[in-house]
Amino acid sequence: MKTHPLKIYDTTLRDGTQGEGISFSVTDKLLIVERLDQFGIDYIEGGFPGSNPRDITFFEEARKLKLRHALVAAFGSTRRAGVAAAKDVQLQVLLEAGTPVVTIVGKTWLLHVTEILRTTAEENLAMIEDSVRHLVAAGREVVYDAEHFFDGYKDDPEYALRTLAAAARGGAANLTMCDTNGGTLVEDLREIVARAVKEFGGERVGVHCHNDSGLGVAVSLAGVAAGASLVQGTMNGFGERTGNANLTTILPNLFLKMGREAACRPNLPQLRELSHYIDELANQRPDPKAPFIGASAFAHKGGLHANAAQKVARSYEHITPAAVGNHTRVLVSDLAGRSSIVMKARELGFHVDEHSPAVKNVLEELKRLEFEGYEFEAADASLKLLLARWLQKHTPAFELEGYRVIVECRGPEASAVAEATVKVKVKGKSMHTVAECIGPVSALDKALRLALERAYPAIKDTALSDYKVRILDSKRGANSRARVLIETSDGEDIWGTVGLSDNIIEASWEALRDAFEYKLLREEERGDAGNRKPDTA
Ligand SMILES: [Zn+2]
Repeated sequence: MKTHPLKIYDTTLRDGTQGEGISFSVTDKLLIVERLDQFGIDYIEGGFPGSNPRDITFFEEARKLKLRHALVAAFGSTRRAGVAAAKDVQLQVLLEAGTPVVTIVGKTWLLHVTEILRTTAEENLAMIEDSVRHLVAAGREVVYDAEHFFDGYKDDPEYALRTLAAAARGGAANLTMCDTNGGTLVEDLREIVARAVKEFGGERVGVHCHNDSGLGVAVSLAGVAAGASLVQGTMNGFGERTGNANLTTILPNLFLKMGREAACRPNLPQLRELSHYIDELANQRPDPKAPFIGASAFAHKGGLHANAAQKVARSYEHITPAAVGNHTRVLVSDLAGRSSIVMKARELGFHVDEHSPAVKNVLEELKRLEFEGYEFEAADASLKLLLARWLQKHTPAFELEGYRVIVECRGPEASAVAEATVKVKVKGKSMHTVAECIGPVSALDKALRLALERAYPAIKDTALSDYKVRILDSKRGANSRARVLIETSDGEDIWGTVGLSDNIIEASWEALRDAFEYKLLREEERGDAGNRKPDTA
C-alpha cells in the first residue's frame, strides 16, 4: 500500500486539559506551543475560544508567536441548527481567533442528532457542510472532527459516511474520525478507517482516539495502518477519564517500528525531554512506567540480566533507548555483584577498573547500607554521591554543623507550624539560617536553601517534586526505622535521593542534603566539561 507522510496533530492544550488535575495558564500554553513547534509537531490545537476568556487571550497572544513549522488550530463545533453559518456567533468567535487552522466537531451518530441536538438527520448534514464551507471561504484550513464516529458507524454506516462526505463537500482538508468514548477495538477501527480511506483517500483521513479500553495507542496505530495520514493525540496521554491516545508512545511506534515519516521524526531523540517539560508545566510527576520514555523503560535488575543487557543491548531492549532520549539503567540491589556496580558506575559517568580495590570497598559499603535498609533503586543521585565519595574522594559542597526543627501549635484553633534552623559550612563560611513553614521537612528544605543559595545560585532552580516515607519493620529492637525518598527536579532533570534513620527528620535531612549535593556535583561536572553547545535542534 502506498503510504503518505503523516501529519501529527497535538491536542494537549484542548482535549488534554479535560484531564483530571491538568490545567495550564496562558503563559504555560504559549510555552508549550513553542516547544511543540520546535519539536516539529504539525498541528497544535490551542483551545476552544468559545468556551472561556482564557482561551481568547491565548489566541491573541499565540498570533504573535513566530512559529517555524506548526499550524495553530482553534477548536469549536458546527453551527447551531436552524441558524445560517454567517450568523452563528460561535463560528464568528472561531474566525476571530485568527488561526490558520480551524477544527470543528460535528455529529455522526443519529442518536446524538435526534436526542441531543434535537434536529433532523438532513439538517445535521447541512450544519456540517455549511460550517466547513463558511470557514474555508474565510481562508481557513479546516479539520473536521467526526464525533462518536465509530459508534455512529456501527449504528448506521451509510449515514456516518454521509457526514464525512458533507464535510468533504464543504472543503475540509481533513476528515478525522473520533473514537470519542474510547470503546472501539483494534480490528473494528481498522476496518472502518479502511472504508473511509477507500471513499475519501488516505491523505484526507485522520484518527482521534481515547484510551478508555487501554487501546488508545493501538487503535491510533491501526488507523494509520489502515491508511489514515493524520493522527491526533496528547503529550503524556493527558485527557479526560483515562486520557487521550498518548503521542509519546504513538510517535516512537510510528517511526521506529512502522517505518513511517513525519516532520518531527528527526527530533525523536528529544521526546523524553519534551515529555518532562510538559509534565513540569502541568505539575505532574513523570510516569516511570511510561513506554519508551519512562525512567523504568530500560531498567535492568539483577546481575545476570544486567550483564547480558550490557553485552548485547538488543537481547533485552526492544529499541535503542537513545532513539527517544532515554538510557539503559542498571538497578543496584543486594543481588548485585561486582560487574553490576562497575556498569552502574560507568552509567553514572565514572571511569572505573573492575579489579580496583576501590570497587571492592564500595561494593562492601553498598551491601552494608542495603542491609541497614537503604534502597538505591529510586535514588540514583544518592548512589552517585556515594560512588563519588568512594571512587573519587569527592568532597561535599557544604558541611553540616547542626540543625533544629520545632513544631508548634499556638492554640486550639490554630494549625501547627514548623520552624527550622540550619547551620552549615559553605565555602569555609558558617551560614546560620532559619525558616518557617507548615511542615517540618519543608521548613528544613527552606532553611537549607537559604544557607546555600548565595554561594550556589543554581540551587534556586531546584524544587522538591515528591516525598515518600516508608516505615521499615525493625528486626533489631524497639524502634522502627524511617526510609525517606525524595525526588527533586530542576525543570530539566529529575533525581532521587534517600535517607534512613530512626528519626524521620534525620532521614529527611539526609535525603535533602543529597538532593542539593547532587545538583551541585552536576553543575561542577558541567563546568569541567567546558562550554557546551548551545541548545538548538
Ligand atoms: Zn477527544
